[in-house]
This record gives sequence, C-alpha cells and structure tokens, in this order.
Amino acid sequence: MTNGQQLRLYNSLGRRLEDFTPSASTVGLYSCGPTVYSFPHLGNMRPYVFADTLRRALTWKGIPSRQVLNITDVGHAVADSDTGEDKLEVAAARELRSVEEIAARYTEAFFEDMAALNVQPADEYPRASAYVPQMIDFAVQLESLGYTYLLPSGLYFDTSKSPGYGTLALMDIAGQREGIRVEHVEGRRHKSDFALWRSEEPGKRRVMRWDSPWGWGAPGWHLECSVMSMGLLGAHFDIHTGGVDHRQLHHVNEIAQSEAYLGDGQPWVRYWLHNEWLLIDSAKIAKSAGPVPRLADLVAAGQHPMAFRLFLLGGHYRSQLDFTPAAVGAAQATLRRLIARVEALRPLPVVETLADAEALAGDNPAVKAYLDPIDAAISADLATPKILASLQESLRDPALTDSGQRLVAAVADALLGLRLGSLELREVEHRASVASLSADRVAQIEQLIAERTQARGEKNWARADEIRAALDALNVQVTDTPNGPVWELR
Ligand code: AMP
Ligand code: ZN
Repeated sequence: MTNGQQLRLYNSLGRRLEDFTPSASTVGLYSCGPTVYSFPHLGNMRPYVFADTLRRALTWKGIPSRQVLNITDVGHAVADSDTGEDKLEVAAARELRSVEEIAARYTEAFFEDMAALNVQPADEYPRASAYVPQMIDFAVQLESLGYTYLLPSGLYFDTSKSPGYGTLALMDIAGQREGIRVEHVEGRRHKSDFALWRSEEPGKRRVMRWDSPWGWGAPGWHLECSVMSMGLLGAHFDIHTGGVDHRQLHHVNEIAQSEAYLGDGQPWVRYWLHNEWLLIDSAKIAKSAGPVPRLADLVAAGQHPMAFRLFLLGGHYRSQLDFTPAAVGAAQATLRRLIARVEALRPLPVVETLADAEALAGDNPAVKAYLDPIDAAISADLATPKILASLQESLRDPALTDSGQRLVAAVADALLGLRLGSLELREVEHRASVASLSADRVAQIEQLIAERTQARGEKNWARADEIRAALDALNVQVTDTPNGPVWELR
C-alpha cells in the first residue's frame, strides 16, 4: 500500500506549488465561510466545492482532516469597510426582519445549497456572534502588546508594526499603506490599518452591540476568523482557504493580527489556498442590473445541482470560470450520459482512499492504467478536469471490464463527489418549472422585464442589454408579443 504521488498544492503564500506535508496527525483546515445577509449566489458556491475537493483529496491520501467553516453573522460591514454599517443590520432593515431572523434564514439557505451540492459537512460551524468576548480578549492582548491605537471610530491595528505585512498579497508595503483603501478614516495612521473594534458613533446605536474596554460597539471583520480558527484548531494549523478576493485584504489582516498575537516568530498558517472567481455572464451583470443567479434558479430552470457541481469541477479551481446557463446545460448533458452509463454498473464499491482502490484493483493493469493518472491528477493541485476526462474515457474503454469500469467510477466519484453511485436519471431529467421559483424571484423577474420595457421605450439600449444579460443568467426567456412581453424559463 502506498499513498501514491506526493500531494502538491499551490500555496498563495509564496505563490508556488509545494509538497503538502501535514504537521499533525489530523490536518487543521479553516475555510472562510459565508456572510449570511442574503441568499448565497452561484459564485459563493465555488469556495466550498473547492474546499470539499481538498478534503476529499486529503482523505484519498489517508490524511485525516478537521474542517472549521465560520458563519459570519456580525462584523462584516458593507463594502468590506471599517466604519460602514453591518451587512446584517442593513439586510434586517431592508427586509423588516430582526438580525437573528436574517442570520437564521440565510444560514439555512447556505446549508441547503451545500447539501444539494453534496458538499461534505464541516466539523464545526462557529458563528461570529457567539465569539465576541473571545474577540475582545484577543484585541486586549494586541493592545497590551502595543500593536494598536484608539480613535473615536474604534480600536485600530497598526500595520507598520507588523514586519511582514502584506506578504500574502505580494504587496508593495509602502504603496499599499497609501494606495489600496479608498475609505477615509479620520486619524488612521496608515491606509492599511484596520479596525479590531468598531465603536458606536454617538447617537447611532447599533442593533448588534457589545460592551468592551473601548466602549459599546462591534468587532472588526477580520478578528472572527483568527479567534475562531485558533479556538477550534489550535494556535497554528495547516490550511486556510477562501476566495481569491480574500488574498488581498481579509487574509492579509488575519495573518498580521494572528502573528502579532502569537508573537512566536512562526508563520501562523502554513498553506493558504484560494479559489479563483466564477464570472457570472462574464461579469457583465452589474449589481444594479438585477439579481445574481443562485442554485435555486438553476433548479427551477430544470438543471440539477450535480450538473452545476460538474460544471465547477470541469474548471481548475485556480482558473477563472465563466458561468452561462448554456455551459451548465452542457454539464447537465454530460451528467446525464454519465448516469445513464453508470446506472447499469451499480452498485459501485465503497472507495474513499487510494488504499481502498488499490486493494480492490489488485494487479489488474487495465484498472491501474486509470488509477495512476487519477491519483496523479488529484495530487497535482487538485486537477479535477483531468479526473473527469479519465472517468469519461474509462466508461468508453473496451479494455476495461464492467467491474473495472465500476471501480474507476467509484474512484473518480470519491474525488469528484457527483453522487454517481446513487443519482437517478429521472432526477437529472426534471423540467423547468416557474412554479418552483420563489415569489420574491418571480417579482424580481417581472420588475426587470418592466424596466426593460421602459428602457427600450427610452431607447436606452445599454440598460436594456444589461437587463437582458441579467435575465439570461436567470434562464429567463422573454418574448415580445402584441400584448406585451411574456416570459418563461428556458
Ligand atoms: P461572502 O458571503 O461574501 O463572505 O463570500 C463567501 C465566499 O464566496 C468568499 O470566500 C468569497 O471569496 C467567495 N466568492 C464571492 N463571490 C465569488 C465568485 N463570483 N466566485 C468565486 N468565489 C466567490
Ligand atoms: Zn475569514
């Protein structure tokens, strides 16, 4: 029994492929989780499908892991700023709900999407609001170590005291201190300095507020991830994941405050992994153009969540990927073909690790001819498109017997998580149904169509095009009739 090829991962810290060597018998893995202020959109799914692939790869190599994924229900201000309003409070005001209801509603929506995408549950889902006393203690410690200064707007971390500040982002430190942040904060010493504690403005009582040595207020956004990860995984752990946007700001600040807090001269976390962007209709949909599609929109349009998973895995996690309904439609057709073939081979054997697969393969060279490249692909920074290609090839390969194909399908699915062992063809073949759209979504679509009619009336073609792109991304087909526009799901 071997562990196959050496697992290599692309470490954003240093921007290079590195051998992955666990530092403990169980690998600690922290994934920055969702801010639960609205429905997660399709782009928000990518970091978790990617982290799930990483966990499957670790399991495949016989490396136990423990994943913590946080739920941000306080502290994340609009536009990632230090002084703005909390995203959850804004959502609560907009929806006439309490912040608790907002958090509960969108946390549940997140879990539903994760389950639909067959993402394995994390070991822990800490909520930021449950860790505020620990965050205050953490900031008190930074203050006593001399890393902070107090302004009327809050307690700030002085980034000039952090020797390696910005390494993760490949930042030119002087440039960053002057350049990147647009928000003006009165009295802030360097533009890169960030809030550990956000004090309540006089006369403006926050909805979510805690008392602290610096008065009433709320924690800064970056604090929660340092505090909850160390609390649940220990001071140092092996892997931290998130979307590529976090490489520029959030993770930079997590590192600065954590290394200052620990003060042991060691890198806080050894491997930083970031997924690239899912571009939604080539990023043509400005926020103003309309709602960003979510998994429920795909399902209403007749696409299966596993088709979206397959579409994501058809791109490498470090490449940008273009979402279009047509691309997911093509993934759905691929999924249908896969299921149609694999159904006849069921039941698939239970395979989670390379060792499982090798034990079942014995010395069958035709099977080894797939096992080795699949292991090489997952070992090479999680090359899921290659695994998908191997799987498709194996199902057409006359050199493989049914039992060989069965094993290769089980192996590929241990890594891809497409539910090849259980998904029914009829589940993948369900039809588009407007009835399964939520009432909110139907209202939004009708609003967009009304705006489009108006834009066309005003010969505002740019706006009309923008709206069309937003409707396309939702799979909405509009037909203009003498009685006005009518719509259906494509
Ligand atoms: P948020 O809920 O805004 O805190 O974001 C949750 C996660 O989704 C973060 O890791 C983001 O980096 C990631 N993310 C947001 N939009 C996209 C996108 N279009 N493509 C890929 N990842 C995204
Ligand atoms: Zn985080």
